[in-house]
Amino acid sequence: MLGRLAKWLRILGYDTLYDAAMADNELFFIAHLEKRILLTRDGELARRMNPRYCTFIHSDHVREQVKQVLVEYGLNSEDHIFTRCTLCNGPLIDITRESVKGRVPDFVYAVTDKFVYCSHCDKIYWPGSHLKGVRQILNEIRETDT
Ligand SMILES: [Zn+2]
Repeated sequence: MLGRLAKWLRILGYDTLYDAAMADNELFFIAHLEKRILLTRDGELARRMNPRYCTFIHSDHVREQVKQVLVEYGLNSEDHIFTRCTLCNGPLIDITRESVKGRVPDFVYAVTDKFVYCSHCDKIYWPGSHLKGVRQILNEIRETDT
């Protein structure tokens, strides 16, 4: 239900577990065990949780969802940006340019100095047009009134 929000929170570098198949009881258990805050669009579920450990997400729109989380938890969107894999939540680690040769498209290799990789799934990331787009959207999110 909140898959796109989860991806955004990972882009911002926040440790975000997402599993759409998980049952409510599992969510309770994992949130408790790993001291996570449960974000949900399910009002019934939110009512059953201690509000300290659960936030009901009001909107269906991902930008408003991101804004709600940033505002409610007083987060700065720049503090940890691009430090986590958007696919698997693993931490990103610097990697030398030489070691990605042949593992990224040639045109990317030719024009890029800095690469990072996911220590869990090995995906390689580099600053590109994607990064600019993300910052643009974050600016728009900050400027909108809710
Ligand atoms: Zn990964």
